[in-house]
Amino acid sequence: MSSSYAPPVQRLVSELSKLPGIGNRTAQRLAFYILRTSAEDATALAEAIAEVKAKIGLCEVCFNLTDEARCRICQDPRRDPGLICVVEEPSDVIPMERTHEYHGVYHVLGGALSPIEGIDAEDLKIAELLARVADGSVREVVLATNPTTTGEATALHIAEELRGRAPEVTVTRLASGLPVGSDLEYADEVTLGKALAGRRTV
Ligand SMILES: [Zn+2]
Repeated sequence: MSSSYAPPVQRLVSELSKLPGIGNRTAQRLAFYILRTSAEDATALAEAIAEVKAKIGLCEVCFNLTDEARCRICQDPRRDPGLICVVEEPSDVIPMERTHEYHGVYHVLGGALSPIEGIDAEDLKIAELLARVADGSVREVVLATNPTTTGEATALHIAEELRGRAPEVTVTRLASGLPVGSDLEYADEVTLGKALAGRRTV
């Protein structure tokens, strides 16, 4: 960008342009919006960013986002702890919850297996999932990784591990019908609810 901007403005534009989907032009527009806004509003934005980074961590049980040791879902006595839905990212929990058809708990892997990107089983919370099912209290694990190449590879890997270590646990995969190659977080709740209801043993 033009070096005619004062260094603090350049810094703001350069930070904003690191956000997903924000190109340099949009970053400049946002920077000028922030410059026009009141000091209170700008501070509120900066503090909200600092606060999530300071207060939000991962649930010690399921690795969903939480501001306590355990997330709200893990703490909810109405949820069925014998049913675990495995998803790639915390953002995938939201569409599952929107279906209102899932009453179990979650396990967030923190990504998907990807040899190209150098992400292997040790980089994901797979050992933690196996530890959760080890005590025999889990009846079913629903593999709800994305219907993408990496998501399918991850589901296959986990299904195999579970078959070997916990053969008494039913392992299911969301039914087809989800748009192939897309992320769970973009699925509408009706499609996702149907995929959940029609899940199949793998
Ligand atoms: Zn949790």
